[in-house]
Amino acid sequence: MTLSLHGMGVSRGIAIGRAHIIERDRLDIPEYHVDKDQIASETQRLISAVDQAKQQLRAIRDHIPAAAAPDIAPFINTHLLMLDDAVLTQEPLRLIRTAQHNAEWALQFQRDALVHVFDEMQDPYLRTRKNDIDHVVNRIQRILLKQGPLRHEEPDSRLSGYVLIADDLAPADTVLMQHHGILAFVTEYGGPTSHTAILARSLIIPAIVGLHEARRLVREDDLLIVDGNAGVMLVDPDEHSLRYYRQQQQEERNYYAGLIRLKETPTRTLDQVAVKLQANVELPQDFDIARQVGAGGVGLYRTEFLYMNREAPPEEQEHYETYLSVLDTMAGLPLTIRTLDLGADKQVDGRKQGSAGQANPALGLRAVRLCLKQPALFRTQLRAILRASAHGNIRLMIPMLSNLQETRQVLDLVAEIKAELGEQGLEFDADLPIGAMIEVPAAAVCADIFAGQLDFLSIGTNDLIQYTLAIDRVDDEVSYLYEPLHPAVLRLIRMTLDAGARAGIPVAMCGEMAGDSQYTQLLLGLGLREFSVHPAYLLEVKKNILESDLSKLVAVADTALQAPSAVEIQELLQAL
Ligand code: PEP
Ligand code: MG
Repeated sequence: MTLSLHGMGVSRGIAIGRAHIIERDRLDIPEYHVDKDQIASETQRLISAVDQAKQQLRAIRDHIPAAAAPDIAPFINTHLLMLDDAVLTQEPLRLIRTAQHNAEWALQFQRDALVHVFDEMQDPYLRTRKNDIDHVVNRIQRILLKQGPLRHEEPDSRLSGYVLIADDLAPADTVLMQHHGILAFVTEYGGPTSHTAILARSLIIPAIVGLHEARRLVREDDLLIVDGNAGVMLVDPDEHSLRYYRQQQQEERNYYAGLIRLKETPTRTLDQVAVKLQANVELPQDFDIARQVGAGGVGLYRTEFLYMNREAPPEEQEHYETYLSVLDTMAGLPLTIRTLDLGADKQVDGRKQGSAGQANPALGLRAVRLCLKQPALFRTQLRAILRASAHGNIRLMIPMLSNLQETRQVLDLVAEIKAELGEQGLEFDADLPIGAMIEVPAAAVCADIFAGQLDFLSIGTNDLIQYTLAIDRVDDEVSYLYEPLHPAVLRLIRMTLDAGARAGIPVAMCGEMAGDSQYTQLLLGLGLREFSVHPAYLLEVKKNILESDLSKLVAVADTALQAPSAVEIQELLQAL
């Protein structure tokens, strides 16, 4: 009988294949006391297991496919750093010496203590980081117990064509999946912001996370259908489901093959209105994908990735070189660099930054607020962006501005840095365009004030919706209220577009709403002419733009703005 299981689809696509189950966490950890005269050898046993774990990870790092290396090596390096960290090993070594615990038990003790600390954290991103501790400890314990590496780590292709089912997967596992031709993965834990989910999207492997009890309900070699779009997995599917999904898979392939043909087509509506279509980019690999799908530039370069998994933030030179290499990849196309947006759900490592840990982190010290509070951090990035601007088509974008004072502070700081660079004889673009993300309702209502001070605006609907509708964007419990079509959201979008038009400056949209093809026509009708979307969605949005007749959509958008609720607006869109 077909079993249908539901989780969270974090990387889209459909895969059909047999299951391979990874029993990572089912290690029986023995607990016994070692004799006094065995303490030295037990200590040595733990030290050598840690060394071997490092060797295994280095070997995995050396096998990363070259194209994926810049993205993935840092995740593996994080695990290597953890193996070097005294916090992980000193306490177990002490327990072996003082309490005479065996090495596996001593390590488990410290694992439980560290996981408890992470469990207490409010921030969902940080909570997922406890998985890193589990992955590292599990690796050492397998070595201690002489269990050998997990089957999917062996350098062969026996797993080609399989769907991996696991409690959770480390980034190192995810890397090897591509290497071994694994079709998809399904995990019991993890959220959409976990490292593994981020990597799955970049590696373009269908993936579902948070599918509880997957390993209890699936047996080795069961036939599975993984629908990463809907977050659904079918176990032992009947002929009818197989036929249906095979057809879906084929249609998806044909659809995407067809879309790629649009790559070079100029982005214009049926009535010949030109529209800018750019990409949102985060990981280095996204830039290549943006080029492959013919993005007209980068409308949002989220720079938080540069700060992840490291002890200290990057120095100016590292920022500068990164931006130069991105300019090189984008080959003359415009690049909009958003300054650091840390705080709230965006954290880069185990240290809480800005508003994390506060009662209302989304309303706290995040993004430009944090940067203005830590001018040294902000200056480093601004100097690098200014210096890079001498070498290409760069725009500077500031996240989460909410009032004019902050805007003036940023502009003053930029002017000060320009003077400083001038004195030092360093080049920069004196006319570097500076823009604001409009993602706080106050900024949308006062968009005319911002438009009067800045060179461009970009609507960040992810936050704009969160703040307008008072729903935490990372809280599952209220996600049903997250409604891009809420009349209040549409009115704020319209106000911002109108303010930009009156001031004669461009207004883009870079929130997820811009990349959701069900809204393309409405946004065009409202007056949006610049979309910035995840590269994976770019061609789909382009197709919609090419098929849109703007002369009709303006009236539809006007009607939508008068509608009393999202339901009526949705009906209007469906009628299109
Ligand atoms: C947004 O808020 O819409 C946005 C694009 O920024 P981020 O998702 O990075 O907060
Ligand atoms: Mg935002």
